[in-house]
Amino acid sequence: MRHFGIICVTMMKVFNSLTRRVEDLEPISDNEIRLYTCGPTVYNFAHIGNFRAYTFEDILRRVVQFNGMKIRQVMNLTDVDDKTIRGANAAGVKLTDYTKTYKDAFFADLKKLNIQPAEVYPAATDHIPEMISLVEKLVEKGVAYKSDDGSVYFNVRAFPGYGKLAHIDFDHQQTGARCAADEYDKENVGDFALWKAWEESDGPVGWDSPWGRGRPGWHIECSAMSMKYLGETFDLHTGGIDNLFPHHENEIAQAEAATGKPFVKTWMHCAHLRVNGEKMSKSLGNFFTLRDLLDKGWTGREIRYVLINAHYRQGLNFAFSALEDARKALARVDACVEHATDGTPPEWAEKCLADFTEAVNDDLNIPRAFAALFDLVRQTNANNGAPVLGVFKRMDEVLGVIFFGKAEKAEVPAEIQALLDKRAEARAAKNWAESDRLRDEIAAAGWQVKDSKAGQTCSKLA
Ligand code: AMP
Ligand code: ZN
Repeated sequence: MRHFGIICVTMMKVFNSLTRRVEDLEPISDNEIRLYTCGPTVYNFAHIGNFRAYTFEDILRRVVQFNGMKIRQVMNLTDVDDKTIRGANAAGVKLTDYTKTYKDAFFADLKKLNIQPAEVYPAATDHIPEMISLVEKLVEKGVAYKSDDGSVYFNVRAFPGYGKLAHIDFDHQQTGARCAADEYDKENVGDFALWKAWEESDGPVGWDSPWGRGRPGWHIECSAMSMKYLGETFDLHTGGIDNLFPHHENEIAQAEAATGKPFVKTWMHCAHLRVNGEKMSKSLGNFFTLRDLLDKGWTGREIRYVLINAHYRQGLNFAFSALEDARKALARVDACVEHATDGTPPEWAEKCLADFTEAVNDDLNIPRAFAALFDLVRQTNANNGAPVLGVFKRMDEVLGVIFFGKAEKAEVPAEIQALLDKRAEARAAKNWAESDRLRDEIAAAGWQVKDSKAGQTCSKLA
């Protein structure tokens, strides 16, 4: 890692939805943050609202690493649930063939948005035995029961902590009702399905279990897979705010009732991407997929810029004017970075980096981090050729939007370096004629030399 003069010792802090406080993020063990992120339901192309959640999680993992901590991220792929089954059966194809198209598309989209890959992408259909054994454990512990139709339900009254994430006291609302759907709201709180008995509409989809043929509920997928790959207690769990209830509440109930241990230390949720004030969602039909925007000529990096340039806990309204602004802003950064050079950064650049670090560590304040980046751009433009390339690169470890193609200097060959050294001597002796002659000789060899206050910079001619 590059060494900078101004040492900034801010600690990474994040807002924990469980405690509703901003807290230090410290690894439970081994200087490694274990992170579980609820991944896509692969029944359709993900829309850019979904990608707001995934870019938020990408920023989170990048800031963890920026702070010198290791990360182990698990993102599940929900490839069996109410929606995927409905989609496959309507299309008349096997569930695995149906979901494969959208899994592949999802990974291609992540690349376009420069989202770092997670360490593990477990698919629900590859973990049915783990889910069955977790359900068995819950039945043994007396917190789950089989209903007449062969489904298994979690008894929310049997888990005293139910509601602690959503901060709702369900005691007064519990009616003993059951909810078989994967998604429901607080008004429908009740016992939720861990295992769903096979029914006609499931068609060929189903697995044998101690309770007969059926399939797992959505919530049990995440408890089983997160604990398999991250342990019974781990550091961080994230998702969009719509996941908080019932999905994450149910994950806590399932895991903690089974293990008797705390499930997750810190929960983080990002606010929604909206369109005209409404959540962007497939069901409302007000969505753009990433592909829609790429087809309109926007780049992944411009879209990423828009998605990350709002605080993750604040709603973000999608507008094409924001993409236009992103294009202009990134062009400004590119033009500046092109002329930045390597070397020990000046103090004003280190100050920008310190501001940047403070911002990202303050509950991922990316808008403030961008302000520090643009401060660096402004000051670099006033100090042509300043050795600030390393600072830009360090900032981009978090942002992932800067294009370094033009700034990357090709290795200067020894004979060119010898001419550059001679030229530096000539300039020091104010021998301008010799300096110009050497510049021409260097150009004839295919290299361009530029002068600035900071000295000579050399790049290969195109
Ligand atoms: P789904 O595929 O519906 O399970 O959603 C995948 C992820 O995207 C989850 O973390 C959701 O909370 C998140 N999500 C869905 N819609 C939006 C939205 N409009 N803005 C931000 N995140 C969203
Ligand atoms: Zn989940």
